[in-house]
Amino acid sequence: MRTYEDTYQHKGLRKRLVDLLKEKGITDEQVLDAINAIPRHYFLDSAFDKIAYEDRAFPIGESQTISQPYTVAYQTQLLQIKRSEKVLEIGTGSIYQTTVLAELGARVFTIERQKKLYDLQKDYYFRNKYPNIKFFFGDGFEGLPTFAPFDKIIITAAAPFIPPKLIQQLKPGGMMVIPVDEGDSQRMLRLTKEADGSITEEAFEQFSFVPMLTGKNR
Ligand code: SAH
Repeated sequence: MRTYEDTYQHKGLRKRLVDLLKEKGITDEQVLDAINAIPRHYFLDSAFDKIAYEDRAFPIGESQTISQPYTVAYQTQLLQIKRSEKVLEIGTGSIYQTTVLAELGARVFTIERQKKLYDLQKDYYFRNKYPNIKFFFGDGFEGLPTFAPFDKIIITAAAPFIPPKLIQQLKPGGMMVIPVDEGDSQRMLRLTKEADGSITEEAFEQFSFVPMLTGKNR
C-alpha cells in the first residue's frame, strides 16, 4: 500500500536529506532542488514512510531496490542535464531516478526488464505532472534504436561491461553515466562521445548496484 500525502514532517525530513547530500559533496543546486521537490516516500510502500528520507536503498520487490538518494544525486549531477535533452535511462525500478530527470526538464525514455516493476508505471502518481517520461518494457542492453540518438544515457544497474549498442545510440557530444562491475562494487564512469565518435572516459567513486541482466523477465 502507498499513501500520497506530503506532510510537513515529510518536507522537513526531505530538507534534512538535501542538507546531508550537500555535506556529502553534491553541489548542483538544480539536482538538490529536484530532490527537495519530489516526495520519495511516494515511491515506496507505506511501511517505509518514516525512513524514506534516510540516505539508504530500500527493497521495491523482485529482488530490486530504489537507489540510495546519494547515488541518484551523484549520477544526475554527473549527467549535467539541460532542459529538453533526450535522456535514456536503463533500469526504471521505482521510477524515482526517472522522476528526478523529468523534474530537470529532460525528455526521459526509461527501460525496465522486470514486468512487475514496469507495470508500476500504470499507477504512477505523477503521470500527468511528467508527460515527459516514456516507459518501455525491454532489455537495456539493446537500448531504444527507434528513438536514438540520445543526449545522455544513465545506467542504474551494475553493468558487466559497457554495452556497445548504447554507445552507438549516444549523440556526438553526448554523455553516458554507468557503474561498471569490479566485483562487489562498481566504478562510476562518465563516457563522453567526441565529435569524431571517439570515447573519453572519466572514473569516479565506487558504488554498489544490483546487476544489469540480459533479456526480459515476464
Ligand atoms: N533507477 C531505479 C534503480 C532500480 S535498481 C530507482 O531509482 O529505483 C536497477 C533496476 O534495473 C532494476 O529495476 C532492474 O530490474 C533493472 N534492470 C537490470 N538489468 C536491466 C536491463 N538489462 N534492462 C532494463 N532494466 C534492467
